[in-house]
Amino acid sequence: MRHYLTTAIPYVNAKPHLGHLFEFIQTDVNARFLDLEKNEVYFLTGSDENSLKNVISAREKNISPQELVDQNSQYFRNLKELFNLSNDDFIRTTEERHKKGVIKLWKKVFDKGDIYKKEYEGLYCVGCEAFYKQEELINGLCPEHKTKPELVKEENYFFRLSIYQKELERMIVSGKLEIIPEKRKNEVLSFIRQGLEDFSISRSKERAKNWGILVPNDDSQIIYVWFDALANYITALDFYKEKTDLFEKWWNKSDKIIHFIGKGITRFHAIYWPAMLLSAQLRLPTTIFVHGYLTINGQKISKSLEGAIDPFEITKKYDPEIIRYFLMREISSFEDGDFSEDRLKERYNSDLAQGIGNLVSRVLALGEQYGKQIIIQCSNSDLITKFWNDYKEQMKEFRFNDALATIWNLITYCDKYISDIKPWEKIDNEKEFQKILGELIYILGNISLMLSPVMPKTSEKILEFFKLQNILKQDWLSQKVSLKKQPPLFPKKV
Ligand SMILES: [Zn+2]
Repeated sequence: MRHYLTTAIPYVNAKPHLGHLFEFIQTDVNARFLDLEKNEVYFLTGSDENSLKNVISAREKNISPQELVDQNSQYFRNLKELFNLSNDDFIRTTEERHKKGVIKLWKKVFDKGDIYKKEYEGLYCVGCEAFYKQEELINGLCPEHKTKPELVKEENYFFRLSIYQKELERMIVSGKLEIIPEKRKNEVLSFIRQGLEDFSISRSKERAKNWGILVPNDDSQIIYVWFDALANYITALDFYKEKTDLFEKWWNKSDKIIHFIGKGITRFHAIYWPAMLLSAQLRLPTTIFVHGYLTINGQKISKSLEGAIDPFEITKKYDPEIIRYFLMREISSFEDGDFSEDRLKERYNSDLAQGIGNLVSRVLALGEQYGKQIIIQCSNSDLITKFWNDYKEQMKEFRFNDALATIWNLITYCDKYISDIKPWEKIDNEKEFQKILGELIYILGNISLMLSPVMPKTSEKILEFFKLQNILKQDWLSQKVSLKKQPPLFPKKV
């Protein structure tokens, strides 16, 4: 199977925070799992640089918008190396390939007859860069930003969203366009059923502060930033070119196209974007995966929390792999979740230092004490298969926290096995000791493979400790290994 995975592209008016990182890691974990399962995977992320918010932030800092997006986009790109993200590409919407692609998309939609000009007056939230209806506001304020939208009147280009209402509904109901989880799917459907209205897809040059992509054949207007940003998913595949292998392979011929997004932008991805694609006569994504929001110590992520939410700061104290583990284990894939350093310490001590770290050390110590080669074996393959099946199902359903719980159940199983059977009392019984240790090594090899999407480096280390890394995966049985003690994977923290 071939999979094309994308994250949302954040606007880069500030440095990345843990909420961004959470989505990047979710997508990375999915990509690495698919890779483990021998799928073909292409993983894209990027930065939304044509947003008005970037212009406003640049003014506050007295620099040009281009300087601001150059600086901040670099922080986002730096996350790749630090957090070992496996993305194949990073698209910036100020790149030529993007601008040309957006113009090509606009022209296709225009040629279809789905773009028209009209005078419009509406309530506009700059934070969302979207118009709201009076009844969508909460006490007159934007539901996302809790700010008062401004009344805007101007002539804009509109997209005929309304004519795609039936088709969108049908595609979502049938699951041809899958929205995960179910709760979000129902929200989208009820929004569609209230009736879709055409929406404006351009802004006057003045209101866009002359920043963004000009409307073809009308340089008094700038293309609406969402029309522009959503297109990144295809412009990164060289959509602008006449003939393109990337677009052909990963958009047209992927078995799955999965957009990973946060709940605040569901409408744009599940309604606007598919309708734009229908209009341009392009295929739709297959899946939209919607995660919740991260809070920090119970508070919504905001500027005032800066130190606590900076992914670069936090790695001064904790290895990035520990952050990867914590975010995937502690936060539910679909609901809002809280990040706190106290919880991180607890998880570190119980799951990593005491859990996997301690298990690995115990088995290595027994192996060193024994001093001879151990034959890897397995007498309970049904049990291992059952764990693998649960794990795979959870990963396929994007339930990363549940998949990790499954791995930790297997770790607990090993701990209990060791306490019950007391191998140190059997070191003189050659056959039985061989069996106990041989089985533990086999299970640890499997644990390490299951762990690899979330903690790729830790997984490699475990395979190395048990000399499994050079043996073809799944081919460990009857191989002989000799063990010696190694430094602890996760030294206990006070
Ligand atoms: Zn808003």
